[in-house]
Amino acid sequence: MLSLRNVDIKYIKGVGPKRAEILAKELGIRTAYDLLRHYPTGYVDRSKYYTIRELRDCNTDELPALQVKGRFVSSNVLGEGARMRLVALFSDGTSTMEVAWFKSIKSIRQALDSEKTYVLFGKVGSFNGKLQMVHPEMEDEGKTAISAGRRGVYPLTEGLRKANIGSKTLYSIVQAILGPADGGGRRRLTDPLPESVVRRRGLMPADEAVREIHFPTSQEALERARFRLKFEELFYIQTDMLMRSNKRKAQSHGLMMPRIGEWFNMFYRRCLPFDLTGAQKRVIKEIRADLASGRQMNRLVQGDVGSGKTLVALMSMLLAIDNGYQAALMAPTEILATQHYHTIRELASKIGLGVRLLTGSTRSKERAEIHRLLQSGELHILVGTHAILEDAVVFARLGFAVIDEQHRFGVAQRARLWGKGPGGYPPHILVMTATPIPRTLAMTVYGDLDVSVIDELPPGRKPVETVLRFDQQRLQVYRAMGAQLRMGRQVYIVYPLIEENEKLDLKSLEEGYESICEIFRDYRVAFVHGKMKPAEKDHQMDLFARGDARIMVATTVIEVGVNVPNATTMIIENAERFGLSQLHQLRGRVGRGGDKSYCVLMSRHNISSDTRRRLDVITSTTDGFVIAEADMQFRGPGDIEGTMQSGLPFDLKIASPAHDGQIIALARSAAEELLAEDPSLASAANALLTRAIKELTKRKADWSLIS
Ligand code: ADP
Ligand code: MG
Repeated sequence: MLSLRNVDIKYIKGVGPKRAEILAKELGIRTAYDLLRHYPTGYVDRSKYYTIRELRDCNTDELPALQVKGRFVSSNVLGEGARMRLVALFSDGTSTMEVAWFKSIKSIRQALDSEKTYVLFGKVGSFNGKLQMVHPEMEDEGKTAISAGRRGVYPLTEGLRKANIGSKTLYSIVQAILGPADGGGRRRLTDPLPESVVRRRGLMPADEAVREIHFPTSQEALERARFRLKFEELFYIQTDMLMRSNKRKAQSHGLMMPRIGEWFNMFYRRCLPFDLTGAQKRVIKEIRADLASGRQMNRLVQGDVGSGKTLVALMSMLLAIDNGYQAALMAPTEILATQHYHTIRELASKIGLGVRLLTGSTRSKERAEIHRLLQSGELHILVGTHAILEDAVVFARLGFAVIDEQHRFGVAQRARLWGKGPGGYPPHILVMTATPIPRTLAMTVYGDLDVSVIDELPPGRKPVETVLRFDQQRLQVYRAMGAQLRMGRQVYIVYPLIEENEKLDLKSLEEGYESICEIFRDYRVAFVHGKMKPAEKDHQMDLFARGDARIMVATTVIEVGVNVPNATTMIIENAERFGLSQLHQLRGRVGRGGDKSYCVLMSRHNISSDTRRRLDVITSTTDGFVIAEADMQFRGPGDIEGTMQSGLPFDLKIASPAHDGQIIALARSAAEELLAEDPSLASAANALLTRAIKELTKRKADWSLIS
């Protein structure tokens, strides 16, 4: 297989320089190997012939592309100009149907031979009550050898279609590369995976798998081929990630922070308002061990909404400060950064820790002062948005950086944080995310990060009761909301706002706000959306946080961070328009105090069954991991993977981090096993593997150095 990487696709029979150019432009296919990795997305069955008679009794809309065998009885050119077409009558002995062509009329007409038996392949439709095929694929009966059995349907682009390169063309090029199934001319592909891996995992050998995926001989063999090829991709990734991570652990020196000192102890004794949960303790211990290891820490902390990640971050920062370093905490939005700042200041106020906030709206005078305090080393903790990343922000001794809600930060931004450590040493990095990433996805996209999980909520939390309600039940919903308000509680009402739809969304948000003010006249209503001036936004947030406003009408700006324990009800309008993980995040804003809390998903009545099932996930579980998995099943990995794909060392052609969790885990353990035996893959048995990984890995900016 490897040698095929050196075979320019243009030298393959049926390609040539022109088609080669189009393949490169449209699909990035340059070598024979590239084309073999252009896997079919479906298959058509070419083993069966339909009779025209049986087609008469079918609903043609439901039929797949299919084939019939017979002769042309007659043909006529009809219409003129743009409407000109060739219509032929085709008979297979059981009945007749029409075949029509709108292009290449002349040459087709000349080629039609009434003496010959043809195999036609295509979609059958009905036109004026007659069965009809338009521009079918056409072969002489005697030459259909390649069509027997199932045939791949390949992903195409508009450009390919225009150039007349269809599925059939790709199929025959693959055929030309691989040669016949048996006998002379059959190409044998060497397996790039080490024999031990193939044997131990019972994988289908590469030679067989590549052939099966293009020309399946049975469903079972096809499944095994798919499995094998997915495994291969994921195994490359895992091996690559593990090697990089091992190398980094061996090489890059980390700042030594062995001490637990006064700051940490004082905080623990004097400021901690509650006991840490077991999970918090465990994660802090893991971080401590990293800090004392002499190697740079790159750790991801996953914890569901409300699991208490901020405290873990703060206590870890105290460890760094105890060892004479500074710490930074970076959040994706101003609101969230501000919230963190207040939390941390409040928690640490008793021990006199220096904490400052730096965001885009920090005034220049204050900014200058912060810069000075950072450079002199007087400031212990800087909390902020990506404003922290600016070049002007220089730390005396940045030893520890926390990134909250990491999936919103790009790879490049993280790299800049990396460069802010003292004397060229990278700071320890702690990435925190509340969007639970399924474990297997984390293995792929964060394959070289160590992962800690806070899998326990602080005691006394009651799960939020979630229900789905439709517009016609609105009155009941408002009645229940009124009851909560009378009990002294607070309520969120959340509207979707997406950019593509911004005007309409803003309108319904404003209308919603007005009608709520009207219906709940006795209560003050706060109103927040992302387009407001920060000062106004803060003011409105503040009204709600202090309890002066009892109702908050808002967009998803409240998704992260906001912490108002007295809020017990959240109503989410147009819930069907939100992603599951987002709904889960939003819901995390209630249920933060001791009172029973509710989340009402409002939706149009006529939603699809898919949407209904999606929303049912939210009403039936509060387990963030289950929800994240489901979200990926429904939407595809979407946002999460979208951002992360850029972090992968090469593009996946067949495996999906969202759907192939089990295979990822297998690939991971196989990679670990192999690297335990041969850490640098130096042995001859692994030479092909090393080459395969090297060639697939388009070196993106030195991303391995970036968390
Ligand atoms: P998240 O993981 O979503 O960032 P936070 O750090 O904001 O969670 O914590 C959520 C709430 O739980 C905060 O009000 C915090 O003070 C509280 N909390 C954190 N740890 C504990 C604990 N061990 N016991 C009780 N409450 C806690
Ligand atoms: Mg948080």
